[in-house]
Amino acid sequence: MGSTSARRVYFDHNATTYTRREVVEKMLPFFAERFGNASSVHFFGEEAQEAIEEARENVASLIGAEPEEILFTSGGTESDNLAIRGVVKALRTEGVAPHVITSKIEHPAVIRTCQALEKEGVEVTYVGVLKDGTVDLEELEGAIRPNTLLVSIMLANNETGVIQPIEKISRMAAGVQGVGKIPVNVDDLGVDLLSVSAHKFYGPKGIGALYIRRGTRMDPIYTGGGHERGIRPGTENVPGIVGFGEAARITARELDGEMEQIGSLRNRLEQGIKSRVDAIVINGEEAKRVPNTSSVVVKGIEGEAMTLAMSLEGFAISSGSACSSGSGDPSHVLLAMGVDPKYAQGGIRISLGIINTEADIDGFLDVFPGVVERLRSMSPIAE
Ligand SMILES: *Cc1c(COP(=O)(O)O)cnc(C)c1O
Repeated sequence: MGSTSARRVYFDHNATTYTRREVVEKMLPFFAERFGNASSVHFFGEEAQEAIEEARENVASLIGAEPEEILFTSGGTESDNLAIRGVVKALRTEGVAPHVITSKIEHPAVIRTCQALEKEGVEVTYVGVLKDGTVDLEELEGAIRPNTLLVSIMLANNETGVIQPIEKISRMAAGVQGVGKIPVNVDDLGVDLLSVSAHKFYGPKGIGALYIRRGTRMDPIYTGGGHERGIRPGTENVPGIVGFGEAARITARELDGEMEQIGSLRNRLEQGIKSRVDAIVINGEEAKRVPNTSSVVVKGIEGEAMTLAMSLEGFAISSGSACSSGSGDPSHVLLAMGVDPKYAQGGIRISLGIINTEADIDGFLDVFPGVVERLRSMSPIAE
């Protein structure tokens, strides 16, 4: 999607963030002069190994874990796969069909993994959500069986920002959208597993971690060398890990201030939209949400059309999630929340970040009502 505007405002931080300058600086030496393989016994290897362990401490500290409970992976998708497949593999017993519980609003990394496992004889229950976007706890409780090995629920939804009642559920959580947006502590949450991705909080892409509580059984899903305790073989992405560690360290320091700043921008945005545009719904507004995310249904317009039109105006937003947009299908998350399928196509997501300013919000509010009016006047799904 192009833009004819000189303006370039980024409102899609749940898809990815830029990498902080300090993080890039910290990574650079590990591409060139400190390029060692952490498995090597010589000083090049030792240097790389030390850098990895420092990063591991910073990531652990951000989520209240011990360093030895952090396993580096290639990102949120791999962590989700490893968590679900690795636990099912480790706990599966001969003659009993394993059972996994997840929800209808999960990221494709979880939903599609569960669907793939169903073809391998794993039974999966997809629990629904209430109107406010939180997982239906009664339904979840009723779904638990003697052969349930894992409950996999996301900490915060990537489309709506709705924070899930993980402390009340607890086995595994994909914290990809929570970590870096709200304070996260694995003990308070009571989870045994938690997926984290660096590029969602100003770290590099292609690097993430799986938190594995001490004592949790887990089989590898790849075969190879003995890296990462033999659970995740493959030469470590040292620059990525170093960047991830630095992003975690900075986030731990800055989070409170950033949450406040971003939260007040979101209020300005949502108040502004409500006062300027009629027939809109803010999804999950009644629930606890991460402070940066606004999911809005604009009745009578397709989200794709609106995303395109706003892109031409110089604003990068998304319809649904980055992972499913482009499909034109209504959002599975909004459908699960009971949004009328006709309106679920009209969902847009505005996800703010630390670079956004009041001027960005006001600029958006200046053009948004006109775009809505224009699109409504020519929309095939308008009332
Ligand atoms: C981004 C995201 C993922 C995938 O993480 P990657 O590091 O991009 O593979 C998984 N789950 C959620 C909720 C996400 O937001």
